[in-house]
Amino acid sequence: MTINKVNTHIVPIEFEYHVPGSLDEAVGLLEKYGGEAQILAGGTDLIPQMKQRKAEPKHVINIKGIPGFACIEETPEGVKIGALAKLRAIELSPQIKEKIPLLSEAAGSIGSVQIRNLGTVGGNICTASPSADMATPLLALDATVHIYSRDGAKACSIAEFFQGRGDVNLGRGEFITGFTVPYPPVGAGTAFEKVGWTTFDIATVNVAAVVTLKGGKVDHCSIALGACSPAPVRGVLAEAALIGKEPSAEALEEAVEFIAACVEPRERWRRAPPEYRRRSSKALAMDALTRSIERARRFP
Ligand SMILES: Cc1cc2nc3c(=O)[nH]c(=O)nc-3n(C[C@H](O)[C@H](O)[C@H](O)COP(=O)(O)OP(=O)(O)OC[C@H]3O[C@@H](n4cnc5c(N)ncnc54)[C@H](O)[C@@H]3O)c2cc1C
Repeated sequence: MTINKVNTHIVPIEFEYHVPGSLDEAVGLLEKYGGEAQILAGGTDLIPQMKQRKAEPKHVINIKGIPGFACIEETPEGVKIGALAKLRAIELSPQIKEKIPLLSEAAGSIGSVQIRNLGTVGGNICTASPSADMATPLLALDATVHIYSRDGAKACSIAEFFQGRGDVNLGRGEFITGFTVPYPPVGAGTAFEKVGWTTFDIATVNVAAVVTLKGGKVDHCSIALGACSPAPVRGVLAEAALIGKEPSAEALEEAVEFIAACVEPRERWRRAPPEYRRRSSKALAMDALTRSIERARRFP
């Protein structure tokens, strides 16, 4: 028998479909069915995987009916974004555009409008893909991930959440309820850069940067790089090289020289060989830093 492994209109497996109406009901189902269950949020990742038999869950738990998880709210600690917030809502949110424009820039780069109207930020992060476009801005901004299970709510930093390709810090019966994204420092300039095969494709490399200037020197710098290591990573050596310096062309050149030492692209990854990712991550880091600095300079 030939097994169809193509992304057609057909989901070729049988599964039981659950629509919990509350957090605790969802957690109960996740605990009960364990590895046989998969959460469905927007479905833009899971459904193609099921069509291609890369995922064959016996139980699909649609969490869209759980109230309160699509919020975008300002709080004293930062903007609280529910796991079910659509990428399109993040792209268009006036609050996010004003307070954390890096997030709306990154969300707006994802797939097509149709994908962004379905796909959620929680789904983007939970795929654990090193190329997930929301991962780098959340990492550059030191976001907190909120997780819920039978034991109650807990939180971890986004850096602790990513454990490597295909792996995130979520145990059995746990799921993400949302994120708190701290406001960038006052006067911050931010930028998101991405290169892919086409504008609709996932990133071959993506970079997010946050920079502030004080007295003409770099006061704060964070750079996050995606699709060039098994998990999204911070360019810590490049950040350290720039902090305290005037952001001259030479200082930027010196800083991005460190990017290659921060990334670990894999030979077997499709889309681009390691050397392409090393060079592109350096070039995109330069572009993201340059744009962030230009934007930071616009602050009085
Ligand atoms: C044509 C196309 C283009 C795309 N382009 C891009 C792109 O440019 N950039 C990019 O980053 N991605 C892209 N994607 C991938 C995908 O659309 C995004 O990653 C999207 O954000 C996934 O969200 P979702 O809600 O659809 O996830 P789903 O498919 O519903 O879920 C994905 C995974 O996350 C798990 N999950 C979902 N929510 C939770 C939760 N709250 N807690 C725990 N686990 C959870 C699910 O169990 C599943 O394993 C593209 C996909 C397609 C089909």
